[in-house]
Amino acid sequence: MPVDYRAMIPSLSFRNQAFINGKYVSAASGRTFDCISPIDGRVLTQVAECDAEDVNRAVTAARAVFEKGSWSACHPGKRKKVMLKFAELMAKHKDELALLETLDMGKPISTSAGGDIPGSIQAIQWYAEAADKVYDEIAPYRPDSVSLITREPIGVVAAVVPWNYPLMMASWKLGPALATGNSIILKPAEQSPLTAIRIAELAAEAGIPDGVLQVLPGFGETAGQWLGRHMDVDMVAFTGSTEVGKYFLRYAGESNMKHVSLETGGKSPNIVFADAGNLDHIAKTSADGVFYNSGQSCNAPTRILVEDRIKDEFVALLTKHAKPWTPADPLDPNTSMGAIVDTGQMNRVLGYIEAGRTEGATVALGGAQARKDTGGAYIEPTVFTDVRNEMKIAQEEIFGPVAVAIAFKDEDEAVGIANESIYGLQANLWTRDVSRAHRLSRRLKAGTVVVNNVWGSDITNPFGGYKQSGIGRDKSLHAMDKYCQVKNTYIQL
Ligand code: NAD
Repeated sequence: MPVDYRAMIPSLSFRNQAFINGKYVSAASGRTFDCISPIDGRVLTQVAECDAEDVNRAVTAARAVFEKGSWSACHPGKRKKVMLKFAELMAKHKDELALLETLDMGKPISTSAGGDIPGSIQAIQWYAEAADKVYDEIAPYRPDSVSLITREPIGVVAAVVPWNYPLMMASWKLGPALATGNSIILKPAEQSPLTAIRIAELAAEAGIPDGVLQVLPGFGETAGQWLGRHMDVDMVAFTGSTEVGKYFLRYAGESNMKHVSLETGGKSPNIVFADAGNLDHIAKTSADGVFYNSGQSCNAPTRILVEDRIKDEFVALLTKHAKPWTPADPLDPNTSMGAIVDTGQMNRVLGYIEAGRTEGATVALGGAQARKDTGGAYIEPTVFTDVRNEMKIAQEEIFGPVAVAIAFKDEDEAVGIANESIYGLQANLWTRDVSRAHRLSRRLKAGTVVVNNVWGSDITNPFGGYKQSGIGRDKSLHAMDKYCQVKNTYIQL
């Protein structure tokens, strides 16, 4: 039977405190901030506003349990068991978590329930299973010695995450960091703290020891910065904007040279050649990729490069398939596009749309705020054509439901335009010519290249960027390495 999410709202209780050393607590300062739903502008609850003192308390607890070894040095099979229980508890509360995610950041309930929450549970399960299956190494060294190469947990890890996929981005960090034995302090984005706070008690119930998984809601400039600058945090695992990613590099340089892994912005090219086949299918898949999550996806294929002889036909098809993405009530199970995370982000996106017009691009569809009467934050699906790659709307990450179409003449020009960006997260390529597909995949400077699709993401595959899209990889077994120190031990026989 379908879940009646609206009926669940009156009985929903919002956890709104920090989770430090196994307990929900208020911020040391007693301060809180409003947690506002972008669905209708309603204040959902007041959330603890953590600051330096809370960071100190959490780091002290994280360090103590790490040194004690009850998680960091236990049998990996125990970590597996506890993490599987944690995933099971998340699954038990999946409807509540989906509803919290939708209320908090405005994505459609079908997306939360069908994508974000199952994806988050899967990430915890997948790394739980890996915990006791990844072996260390023995180096091919001298016959009178043994050279062991072992991986040890780094220590205290701060995971600082964004609002676009709140629980999923957190889970991509928690999974590998927990499986490898670290203590983690999770700082959710101030726009979307609710699911992170809620899962803290589920982790404790599953048996994750106090201090191993703590949650500090708060603002970036305070809680986030203190984590980045703390002398006893060993690593920051960050997902968010390129601008803030650079701050973390600076914080690390000005403090204890902590490890920093960065999953940052993107402006993914989506290259459509005239030989690609069914243009209607390609336009539909491209529109789905752009407008899913209101365009608030780091790898959204928003920079659409089209071979000039099919450009007009393709833009017409793209516009046709963009129309059904008209925003509607996120709590309606039939809604495909919901809200923008908050009015600040909405105004930022509208500012980009204005810049596109001013720079001379043509609005083929949309371009305005929608559903004003709701009190929420919504924008029409928007398609720009006649765009040049040097325009602001082609270079900067808009992070909203806006696609830009740019024409190209041939392969070389397509690759040139695609690579002419500070970002390199994902590139998509549509062609039926297999040699061209291989040739271009090698030339495109991106961590992920998807051929004849825009969807290529799975927990089994590494995800991360070239250039200013980041440092390091989330997901897959590759992600486990970044939460480990590699130790070499020589034994003379
Ligand atoms: P953001 O950089 O503004 O915030 C991300 C996190 O950093 C939040 O928790 C925030 O509180 C914190 N923060 C902000 N300012 C800070 C500061 N001065 N010091 C320390 N911490 C600070 O990003 P956002 O707006 O929440 O998310 C959108 C961005 O995330 C986009 O750029 C998107 O591309 C990126 N993103 C990247 C990936 C990826 O895997 N590459 C995935 C999802 C989102």
